Amino acid sequence: MIFCSSKETSVKKLSVFLAACSEKDYTLDNISKGVRIIGERLIFHVDVNSAYLSWEATRRVKNGESDLRLIPSCIGGDPESRRGIVLAKSIPAKKYKIKTGEPLALALRKCPDLVIAKPDFKLYSACSKAFKDICRAYAPAVEEFSIDECFMDMTGTEYTYPDPIKLAYEIKDKIRDELGFTVNIGIGRNKLCAKMASDFEKPDKVHTLFPEEVPLKLWPLPVGDLLFVGGSTVKKLQEEKIFTIGDLAKTDVRKLRECIGDKMSAQAHRYANGIDDSPVRAEPEEAKGYSNSVTLEEDVRDFDTADAILLALSDSVSAHMRSEGRKAEGISVSIRYLDFKTRSHQCRLEQPTDTTREIYETAKRLLRELWKDKRPLRLLSVALTNLTDEDFHEQLSLFEPEKNIRREREEKIDRTVDALRSKFGVDIIQRGTVMESGLQVARKFKGKQASEQEDA
Ligand SMILES: [Mg+2]
Repeated sequence: MIFCSSKETSVKKLSVFLAACSEKDYTLDNISKGVRIIGERLIFHVDVNSAYLSWEATRRVKNGESDLRLIPSCIGGDPESRRGIVLAKSIPAKKYKIKTGEPLALALRKCPDLVIAKPDFKLYSACSKAFKDICRAYAPAVEEFSIDECFMDMTGTEYTYPDPIKLAYEIKDKIRDELGFTVNIGIGRNKLCAKMASDFEKPDKVHTLFPEEVPLKLWPLPVGDLLFVGGSTVKKLQEEKIFTIGDLAKTDVRKLRECIGDKMSAQAHRYANGIDDSPVRAEPEEAKGYSNSVTLEEDVRDFDTADAILLALSDSVSAHMRSEGRKAEGISVSIRYLDFKTRSHQCRLEQPTDTTREIYETAKRLLRELWKDKRPLRLLSVALTNLTDEDFHEQLSLFEPEKNIRREREEKIDRTVDALRSKFGVDIIQRGTVMESGLQVARKFKGKQASEQEDA
């Protein structure tokens, strides 16, 4: 397979390429697996296979215990009380039709011998960092997409890595051999194709989805497999006899518009044709501050749900900051849409703060200013910056005694909550909105936010 745009340029570029790698040990066979065109986009998507489960399994194997990946097992809730939900499952557990997100009690009915392991978010953050560090050693830019996924922008690395497939195998094997867990790597000309490719056969595989491969590899898949095409959209599409991604790609956008609306139709049609131009956003070096974000499994479409998540984020990020005796003057909120576009908005407070309420109220206001179009969200984050040491700078609001009393009261409440949590665990106290929210998305989020608090 030689990936060239036109014959003439391809010959020219091929000779440039061959000259570039003539001194290295590249056999013709290797070269034929993926000649790179200078300047052409090249994106890798790295995705850990059953992340939570394989991270726990890796730890157990290192301790001489049995490998959770090889038996019906899952991560979730509390194995003793058998309460909570399945956060991740092994491949043997899948055979019992155990699903992520379902109650442990139900999973145990399906498979009474199911081995349940408690989530350990400290371990997950360490494993997440370890494999992303390996990716960073190869790529000019890495975007952390979630705890177990990242995009690597390999554009412009033609001379260093002439064979992208060989390189992907090298990275995949290095992660497996050094860290003990496996990943899939998807390769494409954009983030969408790379991500779709990494989802092909698992585990421990490298797949490509180049433009010329789209009809063969992408189009036969069911339409619900396309990134961000959810259940209700699938239903509407099926009513129009659109069953595969190929059906969708070949449907007239005008017809799609009537069926699934303006925005969704344009994006779904582009995606079905393998088109996406969103950039890989390398996160800037961790700014001095604290931040907490969550990538959600379900779209967030309304302020009620978003607020419940903002509260949990504000709560955990401020608790982390309080534990280190700092206060923040800057607060920022970031959101990410389904098409990977990320936006953020920040403000500077009059006085540094560390109270959950003040941070949450500010985050809520920022979100309202930022999220005017109400397009569905996949990621929310809250960051605290411009830090000061406690009580440094603090000026009493001389003319606002009520404000001072309120703040002191809130500070006391926060400290009590922090103390209880450090003694009894993060779940001992949930803030009102998070607890009251019966929404699936908030429930799923609860598991994730524990990670950040345990980190704190
Ligand atoms: Mg994964």
